[in-house]
Amino acid sequence: PHPSFRGRRALVTGAGKGIGRAVAVALSRAGARVTALSRTAADLESLVRECPGIEPLCLDLADWDAAEAAVGAAGPFELLVNNAAVAELQPFLEVTREALQRSLDVNFGAVLHVSQIVARQMIAQGAAGAIVNVSSQASQRALRDHAVYCSTKSALDMLTKIRVNTVNPTVVMTDMGRINWSDPQKSAAMINRIPLGKFAEVDDVVNSILFLLSGKSAMTTGSSLMVDGGFLVS
Ligand code: NDP
Repeated sequence: PHPSFRGRRALVTGAGKGIGRAVAVALSRAGARVTALSRTAADLESLVRECPGIEPLCLDLADWDAAEAAVGAAGPFELLVNNAAVAELQPFLEVTREALQRSLDVNFGAVLHVSQIVARQMIAQGAAGAIVNVSSQASQRALRDHAVYCSTKSALDMLTKIRVNTVNPTVVMTDMGRINWSDPQKSAAMINRIPLGKFAEVDDVVNSILFLLSGKSAMTTGSSLMVDGGFLVS
């Protein structure tokens, strides 16, 4: 069973779809008061229908000033899951300035910024908090067409403050996973490099995030928890 988060105030970014959505639902079911931040209003509406206790926060994290105002007003939070990210895969020689800027803004800049806002709130309250950043196996291995994505996730692994950890999943078949890994030849080549012989399920990632948010990992900080079926060590 999941640890209890009764009464804890949690912010989950990128909670409209995929892993972030599943984390928001799991935290809410474990008793937390969850604010779900995402960019598409319809996703948040359907999330609130699925899980009525959740508070929606519709925001584009690339907008620094909007994030400052909205996250500041929605807090304070003791738990933060920085999950929102974009994966715009481009061959290295064709990387565009726009894709680079968006990826840096969302995958790295917004994590730093939202963590600053939430950490200030934690310090002001004197509350023990936990931050989990959703990184990737791509932070530690080069992958074709992933120059920008890998680099933003590497930068993310280097960020540490309060009690911060990352989970680093292999491919998960969310929208992001499907867009980039539906080609059977490409996905077979990746699965062949994963000793456990499969991609991760959303729940594999959610369980690791809940562990790192909970008191059960109180002595763990600055670490990257691989959820990659052994990819990095093979
Ligand atoms: P999805 O693309 O399925 O979901 C991402 C969510 O983040 C969406 O709700 C999206 O909203 C939101 N989001 C993206 N950009 C912004 C923004 N600027 N402001 C607010 N919200 C935003 O991705 P996954 O669930 O697959 O990925 C979640 C995390 O897991 C990411 O950090 C990803 O890098 C990481 N990861 C994923 C893997 C995979 O194979 N799927 C593997 C390893 C790591 P909208 O759709 O409205 O833009």
